[in-house]
Amino acid sequence: MLHKQRQRYAKPAAKRSYDRVLSLVLPLMQPLGQNLRACPNNRRLGVLRPVNALALRRCLTCPLMPDLSTDAFFLAQCQQLGAQAAEQGESPVGAMVVRAGRVLAAATEATQSMHTITAHAELLALQAAREVLGHPNLSDCTLYSTHEPCVMCAYAIRYHGIGRVVYEQGSPYLGGASASGPILTTTQVPPHWAPPPTVKQWPSADEAAPTSAGQA
Ligand SMILES: [Zn+2]
Repeated sequence: MLHKQRQRYAKPAAKRSYDRVLSLVLPLMQPLGQNLRACPNNRRLGVLRPVNALALRRCLTCPLMPDLSTDAFFLAQCQQLGAQAAEQGESPVGAMVVRAGRVLAAATEATQSMHTITAHAELLALQAAREVLGHPNLSDCTLYSTHEPCVMCAYAIRYHGIGRVVYEQGSPYLGGASASGPILTTTQVPPHWAPPPTVKQWPSADEAAPTSAGQA
């Protein structure tokens, strides 16, 4: 019976994703504690300290909250996310997706803990934002990141139609805005990288010729 109840009340994916956002954002909101405690909504709720997820959820959508929608504010949040990542042995990258001044998704780099190179903070934040909105169109969102999104993340940013990207530290070799040349074969990569692969498109001109002749 209990099992059935749990199944019945299982959180939908969007809510789970939003809860993860809150778990990342909550520690960053401590400097805002004064504002949160001063919020009449919180007083009505009797929620003073510690600020819980419900209170923050209300405050993030509360017109009484001060305007936090500045690039500097969100980049500072990304820096703190990056510091969290570094503490866990990851690259110090943090990213957020913001829509209409509200944090929709936040993520830290997780390539080590998730054992995949695709766990860049920007990709994780995009995926979380997509799950929160329930569709892939992120054209009215801004992606904030501590670092210039790499070419892998840049493709995902373009795919989702992100309207604006703000980053702090450039990535001169493989940044989505800075990289030059074909990414698969360029030698303009960090020095510790392996040489580029040999690349072949099949069939080559030589291999295609006999087939063409046979058909003629
Ligand atoms: Zn990336």
